[in-house]
Amino acid sequence: MKFRHFKYYMNFKYLIIISTSVLVIYSCQNESNKPAKDDFQEISFEQAQEELPLYANFLQHFKDRGYTFWDFHTYIQADKSALPEKLIVLRHDVHHRDIPSAYRAKVLEENIIGFQSATYYVMLDFYPETLEKDYDDKRADYLNFMHYLKSEAVDVQPHTSPWDDYLAAYPHTWWIDLSEDSLKAIKNTYYSITQNTEFYQITPKSIDTLGINHVLSVLPGLIESYNIMWENELGLKVETVAAHGSSTPINHVINNVPLLNVEQVRNVNLFVLETSSPEVFQKIKFIHDNNRPLWIENPEQIEDGQYELLMHPQVWENPQEYRDLYWPKSKSNEY
Ligand SMILES: [Zn+2]
Repeated sequence: MKFRHFKYYMNFKYLIIISTSVLVIYSCQNESNKPAKDDFQEISFEQAQEELPLYANFLQHFKDRGYTFWDFHTYIQADKSALPEKLIVLRHDVHHRDIPSAYRAKVLEENIIGFQSATYYVMLDFYPETLEKDYDDKRADYLNFMHYLKSEAVDVQPHTSPWDDYLAAYPHTWWIDLSEDSLKAIKNTYYSITQNTEFYQITPKSIDTLGINHVLSVLPGLIESYNIMWENELGLKVETVAAHGSSTPINHVINNVPLLNVEQVRNVNLFVLETSSPEVFQKIKFIHDNNRPLWIENPEQIEDGQYELLMHPQVWENPQEYRDLYWPKSKSNEY
């Protein structure tokens, strides 16, 4: 009983920070958009432990080492000059393939490390996934998961790719079909990318060949439209965002992270923070599961410190499968 009350309290606490106007939108739109409770996956702690054992072990390990776990909502409010010595700011990037294990990750977190311990960045309406034949079904899965998190007072925010959004809006961009190598040559000749403690700068050295000034001038409008869609669907305002490591060639040349952290874009106040921004990485170190590091199974390999941890729930189902496919063959396999 106390447990339920606590959750309602957290819901209330979350709501009072939202402006009155958003509350009006929330109350108008929530009725039609909120999926039935039956759509949510009911998963017990025991089931989650059995089905995502590596993550259960990882969380228990760091809890035993005395770590504090925060979501990004807690991080942005914290005094950055007095962060806990042992800190993990936990972030999940949730692609469609991640959703089943994301439900399990959430149950493990609430039982092992407690409330407000992770932010889920969900990839709703990612172009070109939106073009897929079964996207309506996928979209329903994303929304069900997002509303489940909201109903449990878990921080849920967008995982976005500004480059993909831009190319979807401007499909006649002249360099859209150029290879990564060609784009890299153009970038090296015509642009300098630098960063200070807060922002990135993407500066044309002479001619703005790739039309970056156009990109940066329309990006705030694209983000604003996305945020309106997000708020209409979820009934909660966008607070933070996590840039997706898109495979579109331009993203390997000028990444989504610098794009979202150019002063001109950041100053429009469409979000409070991007999770890979210079201001975050000045304070905490980034660790992620992209290449299936061995510390997934052996968390004692991670030295004490203050971290942002990026966890993709699906990756923790079977990291070895990926290593067998993509890691260089070990010595024992060579003759
Ligand atoms: Zn991603």
